[in-house]
Amino acid sequence: MQPTGNLHIGNYLGALKNWVRIQHDYECIFCIVDLHAVTVYQDPAELRAKISEIAALYLAAGIDPDDCAIMVQSAVPAHAELAWMLTCVTPVGWLERMTQYKMKAAKQESTGDGLLQYPVLMAADILLYQAGIVPVGEDQAQHLELTRDIAQRFNSLYSDTFVVPNTSLPTVGARVMGLDDPTQKMSKSATGLNHAVALLDPPAKIRKTIMRATTDSLPAVDFDTAGPGVLNLLAIYQAFSGESDDAMKATFTGMRYGDLKKQVAEMVISHLEPFQQRYRQITADPAYLAAILRDGAARVAPIANSTVRTVKQRMGLHT
Ligand code: AMP
Repeated sequence: MQPTGNLHIGNYLGALKNWVRIQHDYECIFCIVDLHAVTVYQDPAELRAKISEIAALYLAAGIDPDDCAIMVQSAVPAHAELAWMLTCVTPVGWLERMTQYKMKAAKQESTGDGLLQYPVLMAADILLYQAGIVPVGEDQAQHLELTRDIAQRFNSLYSDTFVVPNTSLPTVGARVMGLDDPTQKMSKSATGLNHAVALLDPPAKIRKTIMRATTDSLPAVDFDTAGPGVLNLLAIYQAFSGESDDAMKATFTGMRYGDLKKQVAEMVISHLEPFQQRYRQITADPAYLAAILRDGAARVAPIANSTVRTVKQRMGLHT
């Protein structure tokens, strides 16, 4: 995850919750991608603080640092090194086609080169560790596809070097939509006051945001005709509660929207309150956090360095 903006329930349901679920089934590496963050200007002091915040949020969500590596991208120089080598085998047309690039570039007067290269750096993050599975939200599926294309192109040019990774998507809550506009993905960079529920929002704010969520002109829940706003609220409830489709229908069919929102708000708060308590405990000990990040980088660097060495050898670069 990028250490920018405020992590929200979309990040939690689309990524973090899934990571916690699979963390003991695989050898996992969870990266805080600060090099990605600086593809647009970041205030240096804020960026530094955000890196620690994200690490604490990973831990509060239940990532186990004894079993998994939690690390900061820029602490392992091999990320930037491999990104350059992959850039050299990536046609610019592949990058210009990326939806996220087109959307971000359209919002800016002049586009930094880093924004175009963003998915190549992401490919490096993945291919460095010969990752088999990348558990991201649906919005990253196109970047994953590009990673596969880059890996295959490198493998065909220089012989088999990279594992070609798979995407793994959660079945519920893969794409949480904005509460103010359910046609747009909930996003850290959106500015609307009632757009997102941030993971560190106090209960009163969570209630207010959800009670103001956009619905539609129907009076009550009808699963067959509900608009995107109502479906989004139901999906958020289901993702947090883990209830089956049948149980959801039994509970919510015919419920008035005001009551639906109250139920969704209480469900979200009941999950975020203990989460926020853990977060406060973790951030009370900055030395502990720093040690976890140092240990994470030290654990993964040998894997990353070994991949870079192989790639350099294959390309005929100096090793
Ligand atoms: P980002 O917020 O772009 O740094 O994304 C961090 C992670 O959260 C990625 O794995 C995304 O796929 C996931 N994510 C971001 N926004 C959403 C959303 N609205 N719904 C589901 N997953 C999301």
